[in-house]
Amino acid sequence: MQNDIALFSELCDILFEAEKHQSVAKPIPTSQLYNQLNLSLNAEGSLDNDLKITLKEIIKSTPKTASKSFFNQLFGGRIGKAALGDLLAVMLNNSMYTYKVAGPQVGVEKQVLKNICKLAGYKSDSDGTFAPGGSMSNMMALIMARDHKNEDIRAEGLKKQMTLYTSAASHYSISKNAALTGIGRNQVRLVNTNGNGEMLADHLDELVQKDLNDGFEPFFVNATAGTTVLGAFDDIELISKVCKKYQLWLHVDGAYCGGVIFSSKYKHLVKGLEHSDSFSVNAHKMLGTPLSCSIIVTQNKAQLHHSFSNEADYLYQTDGDDFNLGKTSLQCGRRNDGLKIWTLWKSVGTNGLEQIVDKQFEMANIARQYVKNNKDYTLYSFENSISVCFNYKDIPAKELCTALYENSELMVGFGKFNNQEFVRMVTINSVLEKEDVLAFFRTLEAFVAKHMLKISST
Ligand SMILES: *Cc1c(COP(=O)(O)O)cnc(C)c1O
Repeated sequence: MQNDIALFSELCDILFEAEKHQSVAKPIPTSQLYNQLNLSLNAEGSLDNDLKITLKEIIKSTPKTASKSFFNQLFGGRIGKAALGDLLAVMLNNSMYTYKVAGPQVGVEKQVLKNICKLAGYKSDSDGTFAPGGSMSNMMALIMARDHKNEDIRAEGLKKQMTLYTSAASHYSISKNAALTGIGRNQVRLVNTNGNGEMLADHLDELVQKDLNDGFEPFFVNATAGTTVLGAFDDIELISKVCKKYQLWLHVDGAYCGGVIFSSKYKHLVKGLEHSDSFSVNAHKMLGTPLSCSIIVTQNKAQLHHSFSNEADYLYQTDGDDFNLGKTSLQCGRRNDGLKIWTLWKSVGTNGLEQIVDKQFEMANIARQYVKNNKDYTLYSFENSISVCFNYKDIPAKELCTALYENSELMVGFGKFNNQEFVRMVTINSVLEKEDVLAFFRTLEAFVAKHMLKISST
């Protein structure tokens, strides 16, 4: 093992060098992948030295998500203390289902959940868990809402057609989860948004009313804190009034930007969060931990137990339900995703997490200002968003992003809203500085001047 730790450290040095000097790895065409890298698995194992050579090659051609050239969706960067916590979780290798096998790690997880509940404005009978990602957090919310509407569903299955509501700009996992949970994709109602991509509460009300008239059973509304493309925030306060009126479960999907709960400057974007029934946040997005670190909390701890607990006498042999976290999780065996956010939080404090969040908005402001002040650019996104959406010299965004990637210049994605396609630069790496944001534009412009003006004129 000691040798492997030394090798790990050596490989990290290779990675850090590559991040600096080849910040966008040269992409290997998929047709070449198995020719260029030694990925085959054979009857005979590799000698340590051969394995090391292969691993080095793989590292060199793997995309560098912590480099200064990575502005792709929707994570990036590396914060040392969070990575440390995750590495430690690998070495400790506990499974989070019981106190017996996870010990103090249960306390670590519960402490994070308790503090997130508090920041969300939830009361003392709130609780939560860690899910394998934001999509699964949303699914847990959906299941709780479904079972809350009718507690027999858990045993009997669906009897009535239930309907749910989410904005047209929300994440695709809502529809996917409707299919997975037996609700059905056709029972997902897409609520219109305004020009900023924020859900229209009046339209929500109309849709619910219509479904009630048509004999459906409305049960769930998903509001988004940071939509996947524009980074828009739905008006939770307004939406919660509609939910109250019709007794619908309100979930706030904060996978992307729920981290604003840490910021006194930006938490107004989730005003009314305390009126929601559940809230999810991906610490691996705005809070900068390694993947995955997805948290789902709910006001209704009893519902979490009702929907996810199962008796299993071969598993739960000691300690109470409160410390046997398998009683409220989606999985059985579960990796310790709590330690990385706990280690980071412990080390920088709540104030440090606030700075991490604020820094991303600061970088986005710099980028947006640059785009606004330069007549070669068109801006498509809005204030209070860390997604800066633009086009440059009317070059089709898809071609520009693909060319930048294929030529190892920049990693950046493109998105679409209201039939407009644009480059979507995401300033989610809080370790970057103003200089890095400006360097992004300089690189893009130099690249276009050199390679692409032909495309733009066709
Ligand atoms: C990223 C994202 C998700 C999905 O999270 P995963 O961890 O990728 O499953 C859900 N909702 C929103 C708004 C997101 O941005």
